[in-house]
Order: sequence, then C-alpha cells, then structure tokens
Amino acid sequence: MIDLHTHTNQSDGTLAPAELVTTAATIGLDALAITDHDTLSGYDQALPCARECGLDLICGIELSAAYRGRSTHVLGYFLKGLPSAEFREWVLELQRTRLQRNQHLAEKLQTEGFDITLDEVAARGSNLIGRPHFAACMMKKGYVASIQEAFDKYLAENGSCYVPRNEPTFAEATAQILKTGGIPILAHPYRVLGGVGPVECYVHEMRSMGLKGIEAFHSQQPVDVTNFYKRLAKRFSLALSGGSDFHGETKSDIKLGTGINRNLNVSRTILDNLRSLNPAEPLLTPFELHV
Ligand code: AMP
Ligand code: MN
Ligand code: MN
Ligand code: MN
Repeated sequence: MIDLHTHTNQSDGTLAPAELVTTAATIGLDALAITDHDTLSGYDQALPCARECGLDLICGIELSAAYRGRSTHVLGYFLKGLPSAEFREWVLELQRTRLQRNQHLAEKLQTEGFDITLDEVAARGSNLIGRPHFAACMMKKGYVASIQEAFDKYLAENGSCYVPRNEPTFAEATAQILKTGGIPILAHPYRVLGGVGPVECYVHEMRSMGLKGIEAFHSQQPVDVTNFYKRLAKRFSLALSGGSDFHGETKSDIKLGTGINRNLNVSRTILDNLRSLNPAEPLLTPFELHV
C-alpha cells in the first residue's frame, strides 16, 4: 500500500514531517508522497528521517488553481528529480498571495463580529497558514462546534466570510510543474467535476493545458465515483494517482494509507506507472483507448 497525498504541519496537517514519516514506516507503507499546500518544506524536513527509515519518500506539492471560476487543486509529483530553484521562487510568490488572503480573511471575520486576529491564528500553525487554522481557532473560541461547521457556515466558497485568493490559473500551475520536470495531476476531481456538467470537456480541456493524470483514488468519495474516474482516465489516456489526503487531527477521520473506514488501498503499481511517465512527452492521443 502507498499514499500519494498527505499533509504535514508545514501546511495544514498536524504531524511534523518526521512524525509523518515514522508513522508511514510503522504502518508499513511502501511509499509516501508529501503534498503540502504551496510549500516543499515538509518534504525537505522529512527526507533525512525517510532515509533512516528506508522509506520511499516522494516530493510533491498541492497547488490551488483557478479553472472556470472555481478553485481547483493540482498535485505535482517530482519523481525524476527535485524542483528547480526557479520553481521554489514561484512557490514563494504563491505564499505571498496566501498571506494577503489570510489578512483579508482575518479582517472580514472581525467585521462580522468574531474576536480573532491573524496573529493568534498563525500561532496555531508551524509554517504556512490556511483556512483550517482559522477554523481551528474559531472552534477553540467556541464560535463553532467543529472545523467542518466553520467551513460550512463561514470559510467554504459559499460561506458568509469567504475571501477569494489570487490563484494561478490551471494552465499556469500545470505549466510550472511540467517546466520543472514534475507530473501534474488533478486532485480529488470529485470536488471540481462532481459528476455534473460536461465532464468530458473539462478533462479534455485540462489535458490540453498539460494535465497528465487524475487522482482517481481519494478517501472522500464513494466507490462508484472512483470507478468512474478510472474509466475516464482510461478513455482520455490519463495516468491514475491516489492518496488519503491525510491531515492528522485537522481531518481526524482520514487515516494515513487507509482513508476513512478503510476505504482506500492504493497499489504500488500506480506509483510504478507514474515513474515510467516522461513529463516531456505527450501521452497517447485521447480517444485512442476505449473502455
Ligand atoms: P486554503 O488553502 O488556506 O484556502 O485552505 C484549503 C484547505 O481547507 C483544504 O486543503 C482543505 O484541507 C480545507 N478545506 C477546504 N474546503 C473545505 C471544506 N468545505 N470542508 C472542510 N475542509 C475544507
Ligand atoms: Mn488541506
Ligand atoms: Mn485539496
Ligand atoms: Mn490535500
């Protein structure tokens, strides 16, 4: 079993990078990808521990990207070599837009009557701060009973205090990942495509923007949806990926490797296939493969 989608406390997870590696080794994962939001710091910190444990650790990242008026998530996997200094610089720019969004979000919450400052939210994190840190702070102060309630009422895209962020476009995010030798994968397509709308058009268009694969296996979707995305990937000649989206205590129902109530078991061959891809070469033309 492998897990190609996890977060450390360098973004919105709660385990320190070395703790995540130790946990992965203890439960016997064959490979682990750290895919923190907008930072490679978790991977950088985890590497010495992974070497000691003999764990196959993969450098990854999860980027927010604007597509057709929605915020989508793109995973980048760096399997042939680590990202360039230029890519790291570009990521620093993303962190700046995140900080601006956080400042505006804190102001908006204050305007709405919540006694919350950015400093106290930031004190809950170790590096990069995201909406889950705001949610945890709102829960600690008794404004909501759970992190989920904070999202549903205030922080989600349709929440009353939502503040949009200046995100790169989907095309730019995939292009930056490709340029540094990475493989761009659409994270949890269920959240973007949701089974509604012209799915074929979305996937086809995303593929033309450089997308190489979709995260067909994810802990927060029903089994029939997983099967649908497997067929979709085959039809459009896209690679498959999968992971739990482990965040530690931020999303305590999601367990490393096994997902929610053991609904996940991603096979090592998924990683072998990704490793055999050459990001510089196009995949087969779509419609060549039929389900
Ligand atoms: P940010 O990158 O700071 O905008 O925060 C996004 C993170 O918040 C995601 O990676 C998830 O961990 C979490 N998140 C986003 N939307 C929701 C939601 N509707 N319910 C629960 N958690 C969410
Ligand atoms: Mn997250
Ligand atoms: Mn995501
Ligand atoms: Mn994630």
